[in-house]
Amino acid sequence: MRVHVISDMEGVGGIVKPEQTNAGKPMFEEGRKLYTQEINAAVRGAKAAGATEIVVMDCHGAGEGFTFNSLVAEDLDPACEFVVQEEWAGYTEFLEQGCDAALFVGMHAMAGTRDGVLNHTVSGVDWHNLWFNGTLVGETGINAALCGTWGCPVVLVTGDDAACREATELLGAGLTTVCVKQGLGGRSARMLTPARARDLIEEGARNALSNLSAVEPYDPGKPCEVKVEYKSTGPPQRLRFQFGVELLDDRTIVSRADDWWTAWKQFFFAA
Ligand SMILES: [Zn+2]
Repeated sequence: MRVHVISDMEGVGGIVKPEQTNAGKPMFEEGRKLYTQEINAAVRGAKAAGATEIVVMDCHGAGEGFTFNSLVAEDLDPACEFVVQEEWAGYTEFLEQGCDAALFVGMHAMAGTRDGVLNHTVSGVDWHNLWFNGTLVGETGINAALCGTWGCPVVLVTGDDAACREATELLGAGLTTVCVKQGLGGRSARMLTPARARDLIEEGARNALSNLSAVEPYDPGKPCEVKVEYKSTGPPQRLRFQFGVELLDDRTIVSRADDWWTAWKQFFFAA
């Protein structure tokens, strides 16, 4: 069994402040350790479920050299391999080769979710809202659509209660979720201790991988329309001559194609 662990940092237990997730801040070192240990918990669970190949892909843009490179390599479980990519969704090889399931660890809720700890979509500075064929989505939706492009189902999502709720609404009741904190606001939460969170994630990963057909691979639909409402007029202006992209108004673009991945590629990597 081949398992992809796709991860973000804001949804990790013990993390609640931006200073824990941004490179260059003293608290970032603590955040990286908490993050790495949650990944290890998912790896242990996958291994216990019979995974023979486990590849971890960090999708957190911490800034500086830590972007997509926040895990403490020295502390990672030897049962996994890990990818440091240059751009988010830039690494697709493991999915292309055929992956049995994905586990999403440390996810946060979409921008505008009141009880979502550190909630945002892609960029807190530039992005306001994102839709796939009319459905409002966050980063779980993006990563799930990426997996779904190659037929890989997402069977586990961990994060705060808001991220788990968002994931279940999108992917269905068959999804296993592990809630490690209850957001009280964007930068406050009632949390499990990291040790307890890791136990639950290990158990959740093992259980989720025992039934790979519990969740269908996610497909936003064909043809596919990706709509982004930005916070300012700059990003749409930079995309105005991009093939397949139309400006709906000064802050909103729509990218249309036969399938989600084509629609995503034709604007996301160009912006
Ligand atoms: Zn992140």
